Amino acid sequence: MAKKEVDDRFKKFGTVSFTAITKTNEFISYLEKGKVMGTRCKECAAIYFPPRSDCSQCLHSNMEWFEVSGTGRLLSFSELKYGPVGFEDDLPYTIALLDYGDYKVFGRISKDTHYEDLNVGMELKTEFTTLPNGQLSYVFKRP
Ligand SMILES: [Zn+2]
Repeated sequence: MAKKEVDDRFKKFGTVSFTAITKTNEFISYLEKGKVMGTRCKECAAIYFPPRSDCSQCLHSNMEWFEVSGTGRLLSFSELKYGPVGFEDDLPYTIALLDYGDYKVFGRISKDTHYEDLNVGMELKTEFTTLPNGQLSYVFKRP
């Protein structure tokens, strides 16, 4: 599988939710169990996070779930002072992109990890959390 140099999904974080997700609703069921999951194509091994139920590489729908585990390398981060609708109460918070090698995960930095302590290249883990509004989500924090 060819590595994409530009991953523009990051800028969509917060404004685009998981859409067209009959099969990927399972993502929420896994979150309820404390697991953050992506999907892997059984045909060509392409990896997707957020999970997709159809492979955009080979167009098959033969996908399996895998857990986002271990640590990823912090690629970029940005403090948000203005958030999308539904997230106003949490402001400010920091969004970030972690590089797990075969895939990237975007999300927000845990409240107990301070912005001043963040450095590009540092290792962070992805952990399940419940947002103040009760929404199931995940955050990045020090391992
Ligand atoms: Zn595929």
